[in-house]
Amino acid sequence: MPVRLYKGTIIYTDTPEKLTVIKNGYIAVKDGRIEEVITGELPKKYAESDIIDYGDSLIIPAFSDLHIHAPQFVERGVGMDCLLFDWLNNYTFPQESRFKDINYAKTIYAQLIYEFLKHGTFQTALFTTIHYDSCSLLYKMLMESGMYAYSGKINMDMNSPEFYVEETGKSIEDTERFIIEHRDLSDHVKPIIIPRFAPTCSRELLEGLGKLAQKYDLGLHTHLVESKAEAAWSKELFPDCASDGEIYEKLGLLNGKGPKLFAHVIFPTETEDRILKQYDCVSVHCPDSTSNITAGIMPSSTMMDNGYKIALGSDVGGGHFLGMYRQVARTVQISKMKEFYEPDYKRLVLSKAFYMATVTGGSVFGKIGKFKPGYIFNALVINGLQDEGYELSPEECLERFCYAGDDRNIKHRFIDGREINPEKVFEKLKTM
Ligand SMILES: [Zn+2]
Repeated sequence: MPVRLYKGTIIYTDTPEKLTVIKNGYIAVKDGRIEEVITGELPKKYAESDIIDYGDSLIIPAFSDLHIHAPQFVERGVGMDCLLFDWLNNYTFPQESRFKDINYAKTIYAQLIYEFLKHGTFQTALFTTIHYDSCSLLYKMLMESGMYAYSGKINMDMNSPEFYVEETGKSIEDTERFIIEHRDLSDHVKPIIIPRFAPTCSRELLEGLGKLAQKYDLGLHTHLVESKAEAAWSKELFPDCASDGEIYEKLGLLNGKGPKLFAHVIFPTETEDRILKQYDCVSVHCPDSTSNITAGIMPSSTMMDNGYKIALGSDVGGGHFLGMYRQVARTVQISKMKEFYEPDYKRLVLSKAFYMATVTGGSVFGKIGKFKPGYIFNALVINGLQDEGYELSPEECLERFCYAGDDRNIKHRFIDGREINPEKVFEKLKTM
């Protein structure tokens, strides 16, 4: 494929501290990857190349949502008066159990992927359900969409309602079969081990999953110290472990090469601090869901300053909105709340939250999230953010998009350097 140049106001974060802005810049893309980013005059070698001029529109990296429950898509914005355990029992478990019906799964998952694409989320890590066939369908739909994803089948064999629970041996068997049948299907979509959370998994189950993680070199995606009640319950069930995190360490779930993604991490102890560093884990901050379902706010600013990797998640249906740009804004908002109630805590600025949603989130899929040579061109072109008679800077336009914009501001979407059309993908998914 020949080189193609995209011209516009280029914005991304090279470091968390500030936005890199290139006005009238060019991004040269070949075979889906960025060759170079050009400031100022175009070099002669590109004289014959195709130039797509987006004027004063912003070109930004696409977003990564590293924690979302695919089956809870239909629950977004309902049941929000509950706290975690009531919400799980009254809304979530009954609804998720419906995914044994593959036609139901198809209807919901097609809409979910369509919304991802509309809102500019092209990389994701998903929770699913215990149902093999629906999980397999979602995996193949993600492949069809072109998105980058870690998906699989979740595991839960205790402390769950009798209509939505697995038998231990079958849970491990199904998971191994899932890995074998899916791991070589795609470069973009990869399996990951997904125990729901420690209190719904027996020791035997977690040990079995730990062996699979090692045998197939897979990563782990689960919840960690999400609420004080959950952390205390885990300790009660696994008394030989100092904390939630040590359960996964002791039972071998951190030994595979894939990414280790921990959602929430609101009350990390010293043990979690050690484990997160030692195993190069990514903690996933989910600010909407934190506000809706759980109590407490992840100390994301302190953790980031201390070298921990922090990405963002919508955590739909705990969270209520799929657009990750809004999670960027919400991250700043709730960090100010935390600072108000805990004056020693330092709030975050927009560039840091944007870095979480693009660079750290993208990094678990390869070179994604920056506009630098060698990076995959997964990008959005946005505009329509200015008011008449009052001009915003490019940085302010990005900020406005995060706080007050929506999918109508996203005019073009690129995955691997190819423009995608969410409506067309949606039509295709509905027929799978
Ligand atoms: Zn979650």
